[in-house]
Amino acid sequence: MKITFLGTAAANAFPEAFCTCGNCEQARQLGGRSLRKRSSVLVNDDLLIDLGPDIMAASQLHGCPLVNVRYCLQTHPHADHLDLSHLLSRSPGFGVVGAPTLNFYASAETLTRAAETFQRDLAGYSLLSPEAEKELNLTIHTVEPLKPFLFGPYSVTAFPANHAPTMGALLYAVQSDGHTVFYGTDTATLPEETWRAFHQHESLFDVVIFDHTYGPDQPGSDHLSAHQVIDHVNRMRDEGLLRPNGRVFATHIAHEGNPVHPVLEEFAKDHGYEVAYDGLVLEKWS
Ligand SMILES: [Zn+2]
Ligand SMILES: [Zn+2]
Ligand SMILES: [Zn+2]
Repeated sequence: MKITFLGTAAANAFPEAFCTCGNCEQARQLGGRSLRKRSSVLVNDDLLIDLGPDIMAASQLHGCPLVNVRYCLQTHPHADHLDLSHLLSRSPGFGVVGAPTLNFYASAETLTRAAETFQRDLAGYSLLSPEAEKELNLTIHTVEPLKPFLFGPYSVTAFPANHAPTMGALLYAVQSDGHTVFYGTDTATLPEETWRAFHQHESLFDVVIFDHTYGPDQPGSDHLSAHQVIDHVNRMRDEGLLRPNGRVFATHIAHEGNPVHPVLEEFAKDHGYEVAYDGLVLEKWS
């Protein structure tokens, strides 16, 4: 399994284009890994997690075409994770050649929200209609939490997030080739229900990717902070959910409390995890 980080920022990107805070100014000066787009990852070349607003820019900047993407797991409908205009722009009606049918997976609540946004802002037909599936070269699948499902070479389980309670926010464990990655954003501290479910589903993760919206000097609230990530990593190791040589990465990194990449990377190294950056590719699995 290959994982490419297309974006690793929270909702407002890093630097936030309108912001003159110290972190944003420093990120502009440093460039490189300190420049973060809104969060999304590509698994191999055919599975996207979140149809985010920056995936077009990411595809261009990091040299990873999305031409083979035929599956998308959607965590939730917040705008920093779901830009429905991509469904139009990748459709045959917009002149796109050769794109496979996109199988779009999301919770019922996320689909309802997405359909409202789609019909209000983008098109005169429902996203959940046969017309949409035909026009957009799309097949929609409703995901139920804690019921594993299969497609292509993947086995996927969705776990409840602690985020946007009415929107059916989900976190995904994706298994393929004998390896499992857990994509854990957006969420505040994981619900006990989710911890129990990890054990019920005999989860053993090779790679865990966690929400790291808030930095080392901030408390968490509706998202995880650095110290909550550390607690989660320790608990995962203690409970045997992470392989002994498993790796943990921070993503969804906000500008308010997180320093630029090299500084955050040092902090993370001292606390048993790593910091993802845009364009990072994970390919070696031990
Ligand atoms: Zn978000
Ligand atoms: Zn800022
Ligand atoms: Zn969110």
